[in-house]
Amino acid sequence: MEQPAFEGMPRRLYPCTPTRLSTWLDCPRRYRMTYLDRPPAPKGPPWAHNSLGASVHNALAGWWRLERAQRTVTAAGDLLESGWINQGYADDTQSAQQRETARHMVERYVAGLDPAGEPLGVERTVGTRTERIVVTGRIDRLDERRRSDGDRALVVVDYKTGRRPLTTDDARTSMPLALYALAAGRMFHTECRLVELHHLPTATVHAWEHSAESLGRHLRRAESIAAECADADEHFQAGLLAGRVDTVFPPRPGPACGWCDYRASCPEGSATAAARRPWEGLAVAL
Ligand code: SF4
Repeated sequence: MEQPAFEGMPRRLYPCTPTRLSTWLDCPRRYRMTYLDRPPAPKGPPWAHNSLGASVHNALAGWWRLERAQRTVTAAGDLLESGWINQGYADDTQSAQQRETARHMVERYVAGLDPAGEPLGVERTVGTRTERIVVTGRIDRLDERRRSDGDRALVVVDYKTGRRPLTTDDARTSMPLALYALAAGRMFHTECRLVELHHLPTATVHAWEHSAESLGRHLRRAESIAAECADADEHFQAGLLAGRVDTVFPPRPGPACGWCDYRASCPEGSATAAARRPWEGLAVAL
């Protein structure tokens, strides 16, 4: 890669989120369209599965913000309904069906919670830095639990609403969860190695307990990805991409292109995967 004009100067800490790093890994062109292009490329219509996911996340966050006495199962369902995001669905009938399904999902989940078990954080922003990166992100829920030896430990809880069933491997290999655990542990000066995916559609929890080494591996990987992003960003911002934009930010076409917000602006992606209808990602699509 051609060196940017300011090569040799000390590089600033690279600010990033786990989502930004994952986007680079998935497709550098999508990364450019998402984070660098100005004006930004036009995005496709909203996805119904994202609307459903946001509605569920908002309802669960709102439930924990209620007074303890108000944290009932019905209250969770009511929050889901009052905050329903009605975007991306085929029609009002499908939206209503999905709202009913989501209400059931949220109520079933909340029925298994202890309303008095106050989380340490809800939609809590955490961050940490190394010599190379500053990484920030938002944790759905940060629990504080007693370990078997009596010590306190923090647990990163991530709600999932997608239709794909999850496995323990999803928790183990998730770089975002590992980075959140590292950041939370450092911020609260408390051990945080356990990460959990709570998959509401299947009412299952997939947990993984990291070691210091496995957290370190995820962090080094994040630094390595961030270094690639920083290089690409610098070339973009220094205007060194004439005729080479697709070399630095190559498209990575594959089946996921059907779900890409920028598919309509991407010839390779459009040629690779048919456009998905906005509601096709729902667990039960029409
Ligand atoms: S359509 Fe595919 S190749 Fe094109 S930007 Fe999106 S993910 Fe990348």
